[in-house]
Amino acid sequence: MRIWGFGKDDRQDTNAVQEPQTEACETPVESLVSVRFDGVGRDLTYFNDSFDLKAGDRVFVSGKLEDKVGCVTAVSRKFRIRRSDYECVIALAQTPVRGTYRPLADKMLSYDADALSPEAFRTWILPPEEPLLDPEDEIIYGEGYAIPLDDPHGAEEVDEKVFERAITYCSEQKIGYVSVRNGVGRAFVEGNDWYEIEFCLRDNAIAEAYCSCPYPGLCKHLLAVAVTLSVFAKNGDLDLGRDFVLIDANRFYGMIRQNNQTIRV
Ligand SMILES: [Zn+2]
Repeated sequence: MRIWGFGKDDRQDTNAVQEPQTEACETPVESLVSVRFDGVGRDLTYFNDSFDLKAGDRVFVSGKLEDKVGCVTAVSRKFRIRRSDYECVIALAQTPVRGTYRPLADKMLSYDADALSPEAFRTWILPPEEPLLDPEDEIIYGEGYAIPLDDPHGAEEVDEKVFERAITYCSEQKIGYVSVRNGVGRAFVEGNDWYEIEFCLRDNAIAEAYCSCPYPGLCKHLLAVAVTLSVFAKNGDLDLGRDFVLIDANRFYGMIRQNNQTIRV
């Protein structure tokens, strides 16, 4: 029986996430699946021979919707098709969430070494990264952006309107994930698309920060991450001296539900 509930114990407001109660089946089972995408009026059909899919699974597919995460709505195991007529399922988001988390405003916070890694979070929101075919295609210029966490508004190159939009992003729960390990930070912020952020954390400041969005300058995504860390640290709720993981609470519970995991409270 799965347990799904909340309560209190002496570790106040601390939720330990358990492994899935059922063993994930690793063997692929061929199927024809219906997949629903946000903004697409009807479900689309894909061939799958890579996973054992069930309704509710979140997947990435080949073809023109390859950047969008979709939700499997139906699975058929009886079909006769021309393989070449169908795009296929290429990735499944199912990384288990491990560790002990506590609620922190609209986020879940963990200091555990095995808390959800940025690579694992990425599988929930973005298709697998394509390898760089031409190494010279990647250009890194300058030393990245720097934002003081005691006063993010005081960062060089702050544009007032961009800063205001960053504050809006914070209030709209656009920051899906932030982690710092050994001073190296990663974050994912949802704008028109999901954007990836890399930074260093040192001397109470974000440094060497880059965002994957196309905005030429210090963008709202970087500022939103800085404001989030700044507010939590100033309130004494987040210890920036330790490695940590912050996950948007809605996404956190969505992942737990999706994985059939339980929460020990
Ligand atoms: Zn950005």
